[in-house]
Amino acid sequence: MRFLSTRGDAPPLDFKRVVLSGLAPDGGLYMPERWPSLPAALMGDFARMSFAEVAAAVLAPFAGGELSEKSILAMAARAFGAFDAPDVAPLRALGGDDHLLELFHGPTLAFKDIAMRMLAEFYGWALEGAWRGKTIIGATSGDTGGAAVDAFAGSAKAEIFMLHPKGRVSDVQRRMMTTVDAANIVNLAIDGTFDDCQRIVKTLFGEERLKSRLDLGGVNSINFVRLAVQTVYYFTATAALGRAASFVVPTGNFGDVFAGYCARRMGLAANRFGVAVNSNDIMRRALTTGVYEPAATTPTSSPSMDIQVASNFERLIFETAGRDAMIASALMRGFERTGRLIIPMHMLEAMKADFSAERASEGEIFAKIRSVNATTGILVDPHTAVGFVALDKLRNSGAISGPAICLATAHPAKFPDAVKAASGVHPGLPARYADLMAREERMIAAPADAGAVCDIILERSIFA
Ligand SMILES: *Cc1c(COP(=O)(O)O)cnc(C)c1O
Repeated sequence: MRFLSTRGDAPPLDFKRVVLSGLAPDGGLYMPERWPSLPAALMGDFARMSFAEVAAAVLAPFAGGELSEKSILAMAARAFGAFDAPDVAPLRALGGDDHLLELFHGPTLAFKDIAMRMLAEFYGWALEGAWRGKTIIGATSGDTGGAAVDAFAGSAKAEIFMLHPKGRVSDVQRRMMTTVDAANIVNLAIDGTFDDCQRIVKTLFGEERLKSRLDLGGVNSINFVRLAVQTVYYFTATAALGRAASFVVPTGNFGDVFAGYCARRMGLAANRFGVAVNSNDIMRRALTTGVYEPAATTPTSSPSMDIQVASNFERLIFETAGRDAMIASALMRGFERTGRLIIPMHMLEAMKADFSAERASEGEIFAKIRSVNATTGILVDPHTAVGFVALDKLRNSGAISGPAICLATAHPAKFPDAVKAASGVHPGLPARYADLMAREERMIAAPADAGAVCDIILERSIFA
């Protein structure tokens, strides 16, 4: 399979190169040249297959002739062996038509582990025999960082510089990154927002001082391979349910919910995709008014969704433009110039055919954590609660009817203060994290300035 840039002005890449790449050189994002189509008979077998087996079957078409399904299965078995639920992403019935897809059973207790651990396996394969290691520069709104640090710690072929917005991630999220003692991991606490971190990373990928001395790589959700891995649980959840459902997805960078859309393009039977956002509601405004325009970022109790520039939206633009890179590129360049994108009417209609968005206020999120706990005994984290609030609204408006699957994107113990304040119950961390709050932290403070971060990377890199 070859992969093309959404902006049409970068050479196509094979799977191995897409594994290792961040942004395309023309500023676009990579997409598969065409959508693989999974045979109905194969999808019928998914209910009887393990998560790793489904992953190998779903990912094999993307890896084309470069990697056999058998090799991918071995990688998946290693990647998902570290999960504390044997079926990796269990589907839990909540009564009526509602279901919860638990995606937080990985090492750092958020859904990001699923794709990140698989990406680290693909990195290991892609870098076999490479003479120089990869320098991964990433930005995290909280959970990507922990997942990446866990998945890559100790790797001889990759080092990580992970930028997080100082004071805007939870203590547990920060400690999962900063307490890992490995020479190839550097955490940077940036004096700014997640959008600042993301902008700095984008700038660094174009920085000559770095490009001339280091081999840069990305692991943010702009990496297509992460999205491909995330399609897997849409397939396993639908197979476990035994019929088509609507999915409600707590959304920040528009990666996870877009993975659902990718799964549908590959043959998944699904109804609607609910885009659930917190007060940082750029995606709700875009999908209802047709104007995609960032506002100031507001810190909330669901920090992994405190995002105003939803990078993966460019991929939906590309798809709804009929995969015309000229149109996608003109729209995105206009957006970069003016800070505003007016979605052409026919594209907006196409988006609305698959996606409906709703937002949850802080008051609604806290009330939902409390009511879910009171009625089901289940504790949900604030991100997952955003999904439940959105599901209510989507059912009320008629956008969703019939079976619905809410994605539980993080373990409640990652956000103990908010969960305790809302429900009165303190969510305990799994035993392996019993001493997390006592472990020593390592991080470097830096201003929200690409030049300053570049200096730190050159000074600290083990490959420079
Ligand atoms: C990253 C994250 C999200 C948002 O996912 P996107 O792919 O950025 O839309 C939601 N919830 C949690 C807990 C996350 O870590």
